[in-house]
Amino acid sequence: MKPAFIAACLCVTVLCPLSGAKNSDDLPLYGFTAASSQVQRDWESKFRAIPSPQIMRTSMQRLSARPHHVGSLYDKQNAEWILSQFKSWGLNAEIETFDVLFPTPKERVLEMIEPKRYVAGLQEPKVAGDPTSDQQSEQLPSYNAYSIDGDVTGPLVYVNYGLPKDYEELDRLGVSVKGAVVIARYGNSWRGIKPKVAAEHGAVGCIIYSDPRDDGYFEGDVFPEGPMRNESGVQRGSVMDMPIYPGDPTTPGVGAKGDVKRLALKDIPTLTKIPTLPISYGDAKPLLAALKGPLAPESFRGALPITYHLGPGPARVHLKVQFNWDIKPVYDVIARIPGAEQPDQWIVRGNHHDGWVNGAEDPISGQIALLEEARALGELLKRGWKPKRTIIYCAWDGEEPMLLGSTEWAEYHGDELKQHAAIYINSDGNGRGYLEAQGSHALEKFVNGVARDITDPEKNISVWKRGQAERLVAARGRPQDKQERKEARTRADLRIGALGSGSDYTAFIDHLGVASLNVSYGGEDQGGIYHSIYDDFYWFTHFSDTDFVYGRTLAQTIGTMVLRFADADVLPYDFTDFADTVHKYNDELQSFLKDRQEEVRERNQNLEDGVFSATSDPRRPQVAPAREEVPPFISFAPLDNAQASVARSAEHYARAIKAFTEHCGNGGTACASEQAMQGINDKLIQTERRLTSAQGLPRRPWYEHLIYAPGFYTGYGAKTLPGVREGLEEKHYQEAEKEITRVAQALTDYAGAIEEAAGELERVTR
Ligand SMILES: [Zn+2]
Repeated sequence: MKPAFIAACLCVTVLCPLSGAKNSDDLPLYGFTAASSQVQRDWESKFRAIPSPQIMRTSMQRLSARPHHVGSLYDKQNAEWILSQFKSWGLNAEIETFDVLFPTPKERVLEMIEPKRYVAGLQEPKVAGDPTSDQQSEQLPSYNAYSIDGDVTGPLVYVNYGLPKDYEELDRLGVSVKGAVVIARYGNSWRGIKPKVAAEHGAVGCIIYSDPRDDGYFEGDVFPEGPMRNESGVQRGSVMDMPIYPGDPTTPGVGAKGDVKRLALKDIPTLTKIPTLPISYGDAKPLLAALKGPLAPESFRGALPITYHLGPGPARVHLKVQFNWDIKPVYDVIARIPGAEQPDQWIVRGNHHDGWVNGAEDPISGQIALLEEARALGELLKRGWKPKRTIIYCAWDGEEPMLLGSTEWAEYHGDELKQHAAIYINSDGNGRGYLEAQGSHALEKFVNGVARDITDPEKNISVWKRGQAERLVAARGRPQDKQERKEARTRADLRIGALGSGSDYTAFIDHLGVASLNVSYGGEDQGGIYHSIYDDFYWFTHFSDTDFVYGRTLAQTIGTMVLRFADADVLPYDFTDFADTVHKYNDELQSFLKDRQEEVRERNQNLEDGVFSATSDPRRPQVAPAREEVPPFISFAPLDNAQASVARSAEHYARAIKAFTEHCGNGGTACASEQAMQGINDKLIQTERRLTSAQGLPRRPWYEHLIYAPGFYTGYGAKTLPGVREGLEEKHYQEAEKEITRVAQALTDYAGAIEEAAGELERVTR
C-alpha cells in the first residue's frame, strides 16, 4: 500500500523560495538543547554514511529467492537468517512465535456455464528470463485468504469497485445482485470491503479481478516488457473484515500463544459471508464480455476491449472454493538495544518479512532498509554510541494474511507497550520518488525536521524540499488543490496524512494508542505486480529502485528518526500541528453535514417536482432514488470547545519546550535531574494514549483510537474522528452526536496532559 504523502511546507517566511529555506544545520534539533543537538547531529551523520545499496541488493536477493509466505519452509529460514544477521551485528535478538489461523486453498473452481462454457485458468505462468517465476511447487496459488468455503452458482453482475456508492448506482439502473455472483474490480478500497458489501446486498459469491485500466496495459507496458500487470497476473490478498479487528481471527484482543482460548471457526465474525476468489483480466474478459443488461455507467468502465454491461446474466457462473483451515506458526524476529539512561522508554521499529510469493517489493524492499538500519546501529554501538532509550527492531511475520505477527505481538505485550512505547515507526516496501509519511499528527513537526536533513538521491536537495515542490505542481499527475499549494508556501510544516490500515502499524496506533508513523518513498515507480508471482528480484531490479539508492534513503530517513527519538532530551512531540489538524477535521465534518442536508433537501424537491421521471430515458429507464429525511442539525459545540483548549495547551507547551531547550544545557540536566526528565518524558509518552477509549469505536471495540481508524467501508483509507464521521456518513445522527461528546472528552483530557507537561517543563526551566 502506498497512499499519497499529503504534506505541506516548513518555511519561516511567507512565500519562501525553494532554495531559500534556512539551512537546517544551523538550528538546534527539536527536543534537544543546543549542546546535545551538536552531539546528536554528529552521530546522525555517522549513521547516515553506513547504509549500503550493494548490501541491500544482496539481502533482497537472499530474502526473495524463494516463496516465503506464512507456513512455508523459506519463511522460517528467512526469519532465522534475519535473526543471525541481527546477532552478527552484536544485537540481542530472538524469535517470538505465535500460532495463527491461516487458510490455504484446497480447491478453486471458476467456470462460466451459460451462455457458453469457459473454465478460468487461475494460473500465473512462468515468464522467460524471470528466474523465480517458475517455482510453482512452492508458490501459493492465487486466492483470497479468509474467504469462507463455498460452492455457488448464479447470474453474473458487474459492480465496478464494489463500494456502497456503486450499489447506489446499480439501484438507480434497476440492477439487483440478489442471488447473483458479483464481479468487482480491484482498487479504491481494501479488497475485503468488496465481498462484505456484496453480501450485504444479497450476492452469493464474489470475484475480484485486476482491470487493465487500473494497473495493466492502460497504465504502461506489461511485465516482462514493462512493470505493469500482464493478462495472467493475479492479486492475492486477504479479504478478512479487518475494520472489525485484524490479527489472528481466532484470538481477538489477546496474543495467540500457548493454550490461549480460541474462537471456533463458525464463531469468527471477520471471515467473509460469501465465497470470494481473485482472478486475472485474462480470466475476467470472457465473463465480462458475456454480460448483457444495462450499459455500465462511464465511471464503471475499464480498459478491456469490450463494451461493459452490468448484467445480471445471461452469463451464469459456478464458483467453488475450499480451504485447509490450519493453525500455522508465525516467526517475529525481535532485536533490542537497551537504553542507557531511560531504558523503560521504547522506540519500536518494524517491517514485515513474509510475502505472498517472492515478495521483493512487498515487503523485502522495506525489510532490507530495516536491516541496514540495524546494522548501522550495531556499528554505532561499537564506536561508543549509547542510546538514551531502548530501541526495538521487529521483523514481522504474517503481515500479508492479516497483520498477524505484529498484531499478536502488540496484543501479547499490550500492557508493557502502553506503558513504555514512545513511538512505532513502520515501513512496508519502498520505491523511487518522494517521501511519503502518514501518522500521528503529534509527530508531524518531527517528520518535517528529519525530512529536512535527508538528501534526495536523484536531485541532491532535501527530501523535504522535493516534497514541497511536489505540492506546488502536479508532479505526480495528481491535481493539486489551491489550499494545498498555498499551504506548501506558507505553512510551517508539510502536512502528513492520517493512518488508515493495511500494514503493521495498525495494532500500535489503533489498538494501543502508540504514536505511530508509516514511511516510504514512491511516486516515480509504477507497478502492476502487487501480490503476484512477478513481484520478485527480477522485476524490482529492472523496474523499481534498481540501484537501491532510495533503499539507502529510506534507511537513512527512518534510522535518523529512530536515533532522534531515542536520544532527545525532551521527546519531540509537538501539539500545535495536531491542534491545527483536528481543527481541519472538525471543519470538514461540519461542512459535510451542511452539504448532506442541502443535497437531501434538493433531491426531495426534485422528487416532488417529478424531475427524475421527466429525465428517465424510456429505453434506458432509471429508478428514482428514495425520499430521505433531511439530516438533523447536531451540536458540534463540545468539539469546538475541546479543540480550542487543545490549541491553547499546544501553544503553551510550544513556549515551554522552547524555553527549556534554550536555557537548559547538558541535555537538560543543568535544570533537572535525570529522574525529573524521565518523569516528564513518561508523561509525554502517555499523551497519545489519552486519545483512546477502552470502549473503542461503535460496533468495533478493538479500535480504541478516537482520532484515527480505517474506514468501515474503505479499509485502507483513514477515517479521522471516525466515530463522528462514520455516524454522519452512515446516517446514525444520534450516534454521531454522542461520539462528538466522547471525542471532546478525550481531547479535553489530552489538553490537560499537555498542560501538565508544559507546567513541569516550566518548573524545571531556570
Ligand atoms: Zn506488505
